[in-house]
Formats: sequence, structure tokens, C-alpha cells
Amino acid sequence: MKGRIVIDGELCKGCGLCVHFCPRSAVVLSRKINAKGYVYAEPDAKKGCTGCAVCALMCPEAAIEVSRE
Ligand code: SF4
Ligand code: SF4
Repeated sequence: MKGRIVIDGELCKGCGLCVHFCPRSAVVLSRKINAKGYVYAEPDAKKGCTGCAVCALMCPEAAIEVSRE
């Protein structure tokens, strides 16, 4: 299954839980900083997200939306 995630960079606090738990390493912490001063997570489109939604379940800020194709 193919999936896609959208991360709201302004909600993200850069905790890294999504990065740690994604089985496909399809989320990375960017080097950019949001308005609250946190580095935020971004999808890595090259890594083949499956849409499993583990990242969204782990995110304490509910910053990740998952869709499946
Ligand atoms: S939906 Fe699954 S595969 Fe896709 S980024 Fe999130 S944890 Fe990784
Ligand atoms: S789990 Fe949520 S708050 Fe933590 S880095 Fe990922 S998107 Fe940001």
C-alpha cells in the first residue's frame, strides 16, 4: 500500500517520536525552525511511506495527517 503524510510544521515540537517509530524511515527532522522555535518533522518522499499511520498515532501534537492511495 502507498501512503502519504502531511505534517503541520507549526504544530510540531520536534520531539522525534514519528522519526523514531516510522518503520520505513519516511519521516525526518528538518533543519528548519518553526515560529515557536522548534525544528520540525518532514516527510521523506523517497522512502516509500505505506500509510501505516504509526507516526500519526505516536505524535503527541496531532500534527500528522495520513492518507492512503
Ligand atoms: S504512515 Fe507509516 S510509513 Fe508513512 S511516514 Fe507514517 S509511520 Fe512512516
Ligand atoms: S511526533 Fe509530532 S511533534 Fe513529534 S516530531 Fe513528529 S510531527 Fe513533530
